[in-house]
Amino acid sequence: MLVSKGPLARCGATPMAGADFTLDGLSLSRMGFPGEPKDTKGKFFNDIVTQGFYLNNQKLVEQYIGSAPARLKELLEWGMKVDSSEERAIFTSGLGLVDTVCRRAKTCGVDFLEDVMVLDLVIQGGRVVGALGLDIPTGEFIRFRSRAVIIATGGWHKAFWPNTGMRDLSGEGIAMAHRAGAEIGNMEFITFCCNILLWPPIWRGSLATYILSLRIDAELTNSAGEVFLKKYDPFVVKWGTYMEWNKGFVSFASTREIRDGKGSPHGGVYFGLGSTPYETFEKIALGRFPGWKYKALDLSEMPKIFKEGKAVEVGPVVEYFDGGIVVNEKFETAVEGLYAAGECTLGPFGANRVERTRKRPPCPSFPCRSSVICREKPKKPWDERMARNRRKSGGRSRRWPIRI
Ligand SMILES: Cc1cc2nc3c(=O)[nH]c(=O)nc-3n(C[C@H](O)[C@H](O)[C@H](O)COP(=O)(O)OP(=O)(O)OC[C@H]3O[C@@H](n4cnc5c(N)ncnc54)[C@H](O)[C@@H]3O)c2cc1C
Repeated sequence: MLVSKGPLARCGATPMAGADFTLDGLSLSRMGFPGEPKDTKGKFFNDIVTQGFYLNNQKLVEQYIGSAPARLKELLEWGMKVDSSEERAIFTSGLGLVDTVCRRAKTCGVDFLEDVMVLDLVIQGGRVVGALGLDIPTGEFIRFRSRAVIIATGGWHKAFWPNTGMRDLSGEGIAMAHRAGAEIGNMEFITFCCNILLWPPIWRGSLATYILSLRIDAELTNSAGEVFLKKYDPFVVKWGTYMEWNKGFVSFASTREIRDGKGSPHGGVYFGLGSTPYETFEKIALGRFPGWKYKALDLSEMPKIFKEGKAVEVGPVVEYFDGGIVVNEKFETAVEGLYAAGECTLGPFGANRVERTRKRPPCPSFPCRSSVICREKPKKPWDERMARNRRKSGGRSRRWPIRI
């Protein structure tokens, strides 16, 4: 049983993601993609650990690198489409990933329960034996009985405003694990993505300008018109704008301007085309945002702004979390019967997620698409009651039958 607070294709961070699946280049080349035959699992391990500032759970890194080729093979067998690939990554879409995993789960007999918010875990004799949920449309409470619960509730974006995530991500999975006695760690490692659109409100939180900044020589200025990255040592700028570190460094530099009173009216800095000719911008932007649309957002006003030589307001905005529930390589927490996976865990990335390639700044992946899952199918009498409920609803099994 998979329980999700919102409709699966419209909640959580996964539909918002790029989305890339990273693995070592050698394994990728052996799977028929160009990859990078000179790459090794060891080099990939080294990159993850150094870029995570040595604060990674190295057993999870090992497990991730070791199992990534098999996981990718599985996803491809299940029908996941690949849009493009790089030396250490293949690209699909967040929605494509959700769709592939959900279709597979359905064929395995997993029941889906959407619009139900899990409020807390039920503990008996020191082990997790179920959970208590709230049916959002009806306001009814639902009691789940299960032998195990896997929490996969993603990040806690809602604690920040603005944010780049969906508004259902408020971190209660981490909180309930903590209340149950699980260990929590690395909660301070929060990635703020730089160059996120802040104005107008309809664009607020969109990564469109961050994506553009990876492809054009954009220029960031403060309210005094200063190109503020020039204040830093060129060595720092070179490395600070390279790889996933760009998010930390540019966010830091932008925040400094804002705190010094040199921000834009809506709390950011200015993002302009700099030395990039408008025609080049238009070509690159339209290649990435066909019809000036990005993730259902209408960006058609943006070319007008840049054509007039103006800038848009951008700033650092929370994107994802590297800390959370502490798990081992089997995704077990310290509490019997309680497992956790995905962004709500203290995953393999330490203080910073890793690059997927040496050529361009990255967004690597470790998504675990799900929310709260009762791991093993409960035995009778719940199966019988579930079957009865299915018959009643004409074959659809949307509601778990156990009510308290
Ligand atoms: C804008 C954006 C772009 C990104 N781009 C990339 C990228 O290009 N590459 C990349 O690798 N990563 C990217 N990331 C990060 C990546 O998307 C996430 O780390 C990953 O998708 C998390 O997957 P998950 O399954 O752990 O959680 P989510 O996909 O967030 O799913 C969590 C689920 O839990 C449910 N839930 C939460 N609380 C409850 C509750 N109490 N009861 C029931 N259900 C609950 C939610 O409704 C949701 O369905 C991006 C993130 C954002 C926000």
